[in-house]
Amino acid sequence: MTLSVVIPVYNEEDNIPVLHERLVSVLERIKDYEIIYVDDGSTDRTLEILEGLQKRSSRVVVLSLRRNFGQTAAFAAGFDFARGDVIITMDADLQNDPEDIPRLLELIKEYDLVSGWRKERKDPFFSRRLPSMIANWLISKVTGVRLHDYGCSLKAYRKDIVKNLRLYGEMHRFIPAVASWYGVRVAEVPVKHHPRFKGRSKYGISRTFKVLLDLVTVKFLQSFSTKPIQFFGSMGLLSSFLGFLILLYLTALKFIKNVPIGGRPLLILGVLLIVVGVQFIGMGLLGEMLVRVYHESQRKPIYVLKKIIGL
Ligand code: UDP
Ligand code: MG
Repeated sequence: MTLSVVIPVYNEEDNIPVLHERLVSVLERIKDYEIIYVDDGSTDRTLEILEGLQKRSSRVVVLSLRRNFGQTAAFAAGFDFARGDVIITMDADLQNDPEDIPRLLELIKEYDLVSGWRKERKDPFFSRRLPSMIANWLISKVTGVRLHDYGCSLKAYRKDIVKNLRLYGEMHRFIPAVASWYGVRVAEVPVKHHPRFKGRSKYGISRTFKVLLDLVTVKFLQSFSTKPIQFFGSMGLLSSFLGFLILLYLTALKFIKNVPIGGRPLLILGVLLIVVGVQFIGMGLLGEMLVRVYHESQRKPIYVLKKIIGL
């Protein structure tokens, strides 16, 4: 199997037949492929239609989730069952264009991950494009992985990238960031984008906040998950040290100049800084224990291999 196309589908009964036809006409030029439709607990006729497609073609795989778990979970399910060496993801609502697939396949020969960029995005400005512009800017800044469009579903991955991923929340948009910390080569390519003609968008403005919270998690995991004591410890040491200087100063005042210090706000600040500092160091140590438990129980290595030569 050379190519797996993974498509999360949630209540897209009017889009699936057209999508499938257009997709197949592009994929027919590729020798070996499968299309994995992940039905994310649709309540309309989506599943029925997908089953119909599967009956007509053995290249179609349908994964039906028990309830609506969300797009990220649907991607994860598709990744788990994909058999291709290259995996392409896209939306089911025809906003992505199957005609872009050959271009992605061309680039994936040189890169490990190719991400679509909806350069001329056809979505409402205030509710979708503006929040997404801000989010993209912020994600680029925070993760240090510069992409124009994190939200685009149309992406291509080499197999080993997705097989090692664990996705949570709204995390699928952070895959390029997570992957590039593993040393994965990421490319971005402009792709076509169409307005949604049939069915309704499943998202509103509230997603922006979920994405921002996920960004905090991602950043935290990226920077500190393998070395919590260095993060919490350095904050703790800094805070304790400042507290120590303040208390030293106050002690000197008291004993050398014999000035009363009991009523000084500085005293409270000094004590607070030390207490907070000790807390931080404690949190760092707790974090270290968690990391140990995690890596030892999962036998998870602290490195990521690209390939093994001559074993
Ligand atoms: N989708 C899904 N589960 C969900 C929400 C969406 O599988 O809970 C699918 C949906 O069917 C579509 C894709 O994810 O194929 C993108 O969703 P949508 O078009 O609503 O998002 P938008 O393009 O408005 O950002
Ligand atoms: Mg859409």
